[in-house]
Amino acid sequence: MKTLPITLTAPGERALRAGHPWLFDGAIRSVKGEGRAGDLAIVFSVKKNKCIGVGLYDPDSPIRIRVLQAGPAKIDAAFFREKIEVAKAKRTDLLKTDTNGYRLLHGENDGLPGLVVDVYAGVAVLKLYSPAWLPWLALLQPLIVELADARALVLRLARVVQGAAAGAGLKDGQVLAGTLPNEEITFREHGLQFYANVVKGHKTGFFLDHRANRKRIGELAEGKRVLDVFSYAGGFSVHALGGGAERVTSLDISEPALAQARRNVQLNFGDQPAVEDRHQTLAADAFEGLADLAKEDESFDLVIVDPPSFAKSDREIPGALKAYRRVNKLAVPLVAPGGIFVAASCSARVSSDEFFRVIASVLQSSGRKHQFLEKSFHDVDHPIGFAEGAYLKTVYYRVW
Ligand code: SAH
Repeated sequence: MKTLPITLTAPGERALRAGHPWLFDGAIRSVKGEGRAGDLAIVFSVKKNKCIGVGLYDPDSPIRIRVLQAGPAKIDAAFFREKIEVAKAKRTDLLKTDTNGYRLLHGENDGLPGLVVDVYAGVAVLKLYSPAWLPWLALLQPLIVELADARALVLRLARVVQGAAAGAGLKDGQVLAGTLPNEEITFREHGLQFYANVVKGHKTGFFLDHRANRKRIGELAEGKRVLDVFSYAGGFSVHALGGGAERVTSLDISEPALAQARRNVQLNFGDQPAVEDRHQTLAADAFEGLADLAKEDESFDLVIVDPPSFAKSDREIPGALKAYRRVNKLAVPLVAPGGIFVAASCSARVSSDEFFRVIASVLQSSGRKHQFLEKSFHDVDHPIGFAEGAYLKTVYYRVW
C-alpha cells in the first residue's frame, strides 16, 4: 500500500480533530498523487505541515478517508491488535453471561471504520463495508482468528465491495480460515438459542444489537399475551416464550422470516408439546395486520414494535417520522389495560429525541393513561463512538 499525503479544508481539519471517523470528498483540499482504495492517507495540517491523522483512502466513495487515528500512527499488526484488544475488553462482562453470539468489532465505534466482526459460537464473520479494507485483509485475518478464538473465519462483503473483491479473487460468503461444516450456526443469547446463516443471512447472519431489549422482554413476559410486530426471525418472540409468555404472535411481512421464527422457537422449545399453540405467526403488512387485529378486538399484554429503518437519507426523515407515528398509532389500541408497549427505531437519521417525542405524542393522542417506564440504547457490544453510531433506541411504557 502506498502512503498518500493529504491536506484538508478548515472544516475537514476540525472534523478530524473532533474525532469524526469520516472525511468526505468535500473536506479534501489536496492529494499528492493518485490514490487507490486502501492506500494510507496521511493527513498534514495546512498551517504547520504536521501529521494530524491517518486513515484508509477510498477514491470511489463520498467518504474519502476512514480515519484510523486522529494523530500520527504506524499502521501495522501491532496497531490493529491493540484496537481489537481494547474492543474485546469492552465485551468481557457480556461474555460472562450465557451468550456466545456477539459483535467483537463495531466499525467506526471501535476505531475501525467500515469493518465489522460478529462471532457466532466460535465462527467469526468479518463484514467489510469499504474496498479500502481489502489490501489489509492478509494482515487482519490471523489477528481476528487469534483474538476471537475462532474455529472459522467467514468473509461477508457489502455490495460496494463485491466488484473490487472479485478482482482480488474474493467473494461474499467465502471461508477465509478454518472450516465451516454448515453455513448455519446455532448460537446462544442469554441462555436461548438462535440460528444464524453466516454465509447468506442479512448483515452477518443475525441482528445482535437488540440483545439487551430481548432479555428485558423475556423478564417482562411471564403469563402475558405478547405481540411481536416486525418480528423477523423471532428474536423477541423466543425470549418472550422463554420468559413464560402465555402466547406469542409474531407478525412480519416476510414468510421466510416467519419460517425462521418458527424454527428458532422449535430449536428452544421443540420438546414442549404445547409450543405450537403458544406461538402463532402472522404474515401481513404491519399497517394492515395491526388494523385487522384491532377490528377483531384482539388485545395483548405486551406489544413490541420494531420496524426496519424508515430513513436511509436526511431527505426521508419527515416521511420516517410519519411512518413511526402511523404504525405505533395502530399498535397502541392493541395493548390491554395495564399492559406494556415497547417501541423501537433503528433509523440512524432519526435522533432518539425526535423518536421518543413521536411515541410520547402518539400515546398522548390515544387518550389513554400511560406511564413512561424506561428507555434503552445499544447493548455493550455495540458501543457508540460518534453521533451517527447511535442508531438504536427503544422506549417502554405502561398503558391503561
Ligand atoms: N425485531 C427484529 C428485527 C426487525 S427487522 C429482531 O429483533 O430481530 C425488520 C423486519 O420488518 C423484517 O423482518 C422485515 O421483513 C419486516 N418488515 C418490513 N416491512 C414490513 C411491513 N410493512 N410489515 C411487516 N413487516 C415488515
